[in-house]
Amino acid sequence: MRVKVLGSGREVGRAAIAVEDSGGALLMDYGVNFDENDHPIFPEHIRPRDLAGVVLTHSHLDHVGAAPMLYVSHSPPLFATPLTLDVTRVLLHDMIKLSGQLLPFDEGVVGEMLARATSIPYREEVALGDFNIKLLPSGHIPGSAGVLVESRRKVLLYTSDLNVIETKLMRPAEMSGVRADAVIIESTYGSTNHPPREATEERFFSAVREVVESGGIALVPAFSVSRGQEILTLIAERDPGWTVWVDGMIREVADIYVKHPGYVRLYGILAKALREYNVVRGWQDRKSALKEPGVIVASSGMLKGGPSLYYLKRLGGNAKNSVFLVSFQGKNTPGRQILETGFALPEEMPIRARVEWFDFSSHIDQRGILKFLRELREVEKVILVHGVPKAQEALAQRIREELEVEVLAPSVGETIEL
Ligand SMILES: [Zn+2]
Ligand SMILES: [Zn+2]
Repeated sequence: MRVKVLGSGREVGRAAIAVEDSGGALLMDYGVNFDENDHPIFPEHIRPRDLAGVVLTHSHLDHVGAAPMLYVSHSPPLFATPLTLDVTRVLLHDMIKLSGQLLPFDEGVVGEMLARATSIPYREEVALGDFNIKLLPSGHIPGSAGVLVESRRKVLLYTSDLNVIETKLMRPAEMSGVRADAVIIESTYGSTNHPPREATEERFFSAVREVVESGGIALVPAFSVSRGQEILTLIAERDPGWTVWVDGMIREVADIYVKHPGYVRLYGILAKALREYNVVRGWQDRKSALKEPGVIVASSGMLKGGPSLYYLKRLGGNAKNSVFLVSFQGKNTPGRQILETGFALPEEMPIRARVEWFDFSSHIDQRGILKFLRELREVEKVILVHGVPKAQEALAQRIREELEVEVLAPSVGETIEL
């Protein structure tokens, strides 16, 4: 079995892993990254006609955003969980709306791709060319999966983006005890550890309470996929009686989540939040949301645009309000800028509102990775992907200290023989 790293080698995102045996290749993820000018960066090329099948592990664009490129001239069968397929449709549609002119495919191609899709639940075995594959819950976002790939000779586990803690939305990954010759594991947080989730939840909830109870508005910019819904569920579970507004794609994705009860841990509470909270449906609602103390949960999570930026401009100047960032803040994003300088770009508006960042990461940390690897059986090779070199080097060293395995951190374009 050969593993070809087409993307996510010594970098975060742009996931694309091909596996070959004697027959056709299996491709796991085909994602896109965006550079600082919002130009797409695609994975290495693979000939679509050589593919026995494509598996999408979850709906984040860094895992699915380039997949339509494979369906321009061919149509290999596509597999994912039902929830991943539903959310992927929404995210690809949104990506084409925002960056259509920079992409080598259009809505029509996305339609053809999804027409080739078969939804498979967790743990159902599918035969694909030389391989048998099985999706296992990966704890990252609702519907997300790792892939267990078996050929006649070898077993490979691709964790994709992974989390092993319980959150309001997610149960931990279910892969412990798996027997595999090799594991391809993400290393986004290979060199750091997150604070316990309950502590972050508690700190976040108290901070919002302080703001609301003193008459302010807490703006919570959040990612549309998973983080926004997690925040709504967290608030709804405690039921504090605040006025809560939801704005942007968070609502659209939440509507999909409640159609797939088995994939969301506190499903009933998320459904309750959607029934009880105010949904912004137009500009009139946006003005209403600014009129009384409460919480506004809005896309986008890094304040790069969307309704959260609109609210920031109106709330940021007042010290009574707050901006509580709950998502990863990428380099050169307005969110990071505010955290580091206290100014919002591009207008250089000073932010007087209370600004804080909360670590609600959906990625496994170093401590988690070491424990996760110890609980697998008979692993000989650990292949690190989806992480920057510095994090991977620190992690590789810790793994070698604790386990008798070979650790590799391949670059994009490298092939590994199993
Ligand atoms: Zn990812
Ligand atoms: Zn992800």
